[in-house]
Amino acid sequence: MKQIQSVKGMEDLLPEQSPVWQYVEATIAEVAQRYGYREIRFPIVEQTELFKRSIGEVTDIVEKEMYTFDDRNGLSLTLRPEGTASCVRASEEHGLLYNQTQKLWYTGPMFRYEKPQKGRLRQFHQFGFEAFGMAGPDVDAELLIMLARLWRELGIADGLSLQINNLGTSEARARYRADLVTYLSERVEQLDEDSKRRLSTNPLRILDSKIPSTQALLNDAPSLVDYLDETSRSHFAQLQRLLESAGVAFEINPRLVRGLDYYNNTVFEWVTTKLGAQGTVCAGGRYDGLVEQLGGRPTPAVGCGIGLERLVLLLEEMNAIPAGIQETVDVYLVAVGDVMADALVIAETLRSELPWLRLVTNFGGGSFKSQMKKADKSGAQLALVLGEDEVAKGEVGVKPLRLDSAQQQVARAQLVETVKALLDQ
Ligand code: ATP
Ligand code: MG
Repeated sequence: MKQIQSVKGMEDLLPEQSPVWQYVEATIAEVAQRYGYREIRFPIVEQTELFKRSIGEVTDIVEKEMYTFDDRNGLSLTLRPEGTASCVRASEEHGLLYNQTQKLWYTGPMFRYEKPQKGRLRQFHQFGFEAFGMAGPDVDAELLIMLARLWRELGIADGLSLQINNLGTSEARARYRADLVTYLSERVEQLDEDSKRRLSTNPLRILDSKIPSTQALLNDAPSLVDYLDETSRSHFAQLQRLLESAGVAFEINPRLVRGLDYYNNTVFEWVTTKLGAQGTVCAGGRYDGLVEQLGGRPTPAVGCGIGLERLVLLLEEMNAIPAGIQETVDVYLVAVGDVMADALVIAETLRSELPWLRLVTNFGGGSFKSQMKKADKSGAQLALVLGEDEVAKGEVGVKPLRLDSAQQQVARAQLVETVKALLDQ
């Protein structure tokens, strides 16, 4: 019979790879907690309306990337394509934003119907940060300072650079959009096909077109900086000062816009040249209007998402995966003959007395020789040997597997001490 395969663009994470992911997730969560971010979990499915209203009807995500379906009652649901909208929905629904500030993080799978390639999947994973209720550039700066620390702790700081920009208020963007459209409409025959389409739907997205001829055309186009209102201008200047004094290097990219409608004011991306076209590892910015847009009280907010697949690829690319995070076995318990009752008791005693111990018991029988082979293959430092003889004498055989030393017979009462000493813990 034909075997059923996984869904295209949705990958399994095998035991060999999971230690790297555990390491990365634990490192980010730990850094987050040190900055006062606390974890929030929300469902993977939301009402479709939530994403339409927040991300925007004419964005790539809502137009062509969402996994949307009707439930059995005809309610339109969508697998979350990102976390910010759900985070706002959940925080608002539970009163977390009422007269208080919040710093939250979350992690988990996101879903977008895209063309799968290196660093671009249909089920991918993000680690997200959102800070609510703080309007100043100080919290933007701290978020970026925290990310810079995270890259250092992960050993990839040299591979990432920070780009920042300011999108101003929606009024400033509207004025800019009008002038940009006028400029580009007069030169429409020079635009690539994608950009032509965007001219009427989402013209700001043309700014980050990767097509060289379009980029060239933009050199003489009006620039968003010239349209910024005084508040955004001063916010941007202060952010730059705060980053400089904290020693976080950045580059201003006046063409940096984000693909989601809710952003305003500060936007940023951490990019690498080491992953080909999928070079943005972390992206975010301010979304001061979103809470109100979703029915809450006006609440300033800033956040970002880290693409974990790209982060892991970058760690691999930069040889930044620490040795020793692969799960290994310390002790393999060889059990020959009718000894399983004793084997399980001995294994439990060791686990109780030595809680750090990683012990694997042999199941399914087999000769002494074949079990010793499995012990060796497991990577264990020590084999413990339990046969009917050992049980009768109240002993256990102890055989170091990585040293050239003989098996010794140890009384059961001495076993914990012996194992502890041999593993040098
Ligand atoms: P891109 O321009 O690469 O499509 P985006 O602007 O759509 O990214 P965001 O919505 O800002 O991405 O998501 C934040 C981060 O999540 C991205 O910078 C990236 O690291 C990661 N990401 C986004 N889409 C995918 C995907 N399909 N597969 C893997 N990672 C992704
Ligand atoms: Mg995208």
